[in-house]
Amino acid sequence: MSDNNDKHIESASLDEALEFIYKLIYSTSLPLKPDLLKENDKLSRIYDYLVELRGVVSAFSKGDFSPDIKIKGFLGGSLKNLQANLCHLIWQVEMVASGDFSQRVEFMGEFATAFNSMVVRLHRSLEDLRQQEELLTSFTENLKQEIAVRIKAEEALRLSEERYKALATLDPLTGQYNRRQFFHLAIAEFARIQRCKGIMSLCMLDVDMFKKFNDTYGHLNGDICLRHIAEISRASLRKMDIQGRYGGEEFIFIFPETDHDNGMLVAERLRSTLASTPVKLEDGKEVFVTASIGLTEVRGDNMNPDVEQALRDSIQAADDALYKAKADGRNRVVSSRDVKAA
Ligand code: GH3
Ligand code: MG
Ligand code: MG
Repeated sequence: MSDNNDKHIESASLDEALEFIYKLIYSTSLPLKPDLLKENDKLSRIYDYLVELRGVVSAFSKGDFSPDIKIKGFLGGSLKNLQANLCHLIWQVEMVASGDFSQRVEFMGEFATAFNSMVVRLHRSLEDLRQQEELLTSFTENLKQEIAVRIKAEEALRLSEERYKALATLDPLTGQYNRRQFFHLAIAEFARIQRCKGIMSLCMLDVDMFKKFNDTYGHLNGDICLRHIAEISRASLRKMDIQGRYGGEEFIFIFPETDHDNGMLVAERLRSTLASTPVKLEDGKEVFVTASIGLTEVRGDNMNPDVEQALRDSIQAADDALYKAKADGRNRVVSSRDVKAA
């Protein structure tokens, strides 16, 4: 109040001025500077200081640490210090977030301790997670390799099973069912038609003058001829027909669900296809072969209850018809009915 520029304030007015400054500290709204303060330089500076302080503290309380702090002195210095520390802390948090776990807070007492231990624990947890991920990755990789090995082994096993099954069931020269497998499937079919009173045709096929074929073109070409006959049979018969190599140059067929007349048609078609399709010999030369076929019909409602015996009887009947086909001049289909009639 000794400042020359200051006007002396009456004691009543001083009370009023202090009351106003009190409001400035406590009130949420900023009161306008009254003329009373404008007239007194020191009170005016206190007002400006407090207004500035309110602005900074208010910004800080809202999380805004960017205000330019213009106030000087102890409070200004402390606020600037706090502002610098908080800005540094924000930067440190960002650094931690980007993976720099070396950050430590050296101020703010208990908060610093809590923050630092949080960073250490976070680092450890992340390291643990990384190690677990590595373990999991290598475990997954091992598992994948193990699965690949097993798949390979299973595939090899499947192939070898298939090979053994083929060896056990197929005739290696022609790929037709071998005699054993044919009998196995034939008995099942006989039992089936016996059960459901079904019908089937059974055929025996024998290559004509095959000895002569071998003698003329050689045994190797004889084998080619047998393969050729098997291929034509497979191509002209249905999937459900059972085809086997009975032995030597003899083949045997079962046509399920096929009565005598239809069986004769199928057998005749097979015979004529064989007769009209040349065998391509080793040297490329093409020659024709013929075959004779004996056929018999098998009925479920009229067969020997002993299915194995029924099968043997049917083969015998078809064989007799085949014998007649040979005797009648070969390259023909003869039904067992014609044998019985003869
Ligand atoms: P037919 O018209 O009366 O049946 O006369 P065929 O000469 O065909 O009959 P035969 O039973 O006298 O001769 C069958 C021949 O079949 C004799 C045998 O060497 C030959 N043969 C049997 N199995 C095979 C084989 O796997 N490969 C070859 N190349 N020949 C075979
Ligand atoms: Mg024969
Ligand atoms: Mg023959």
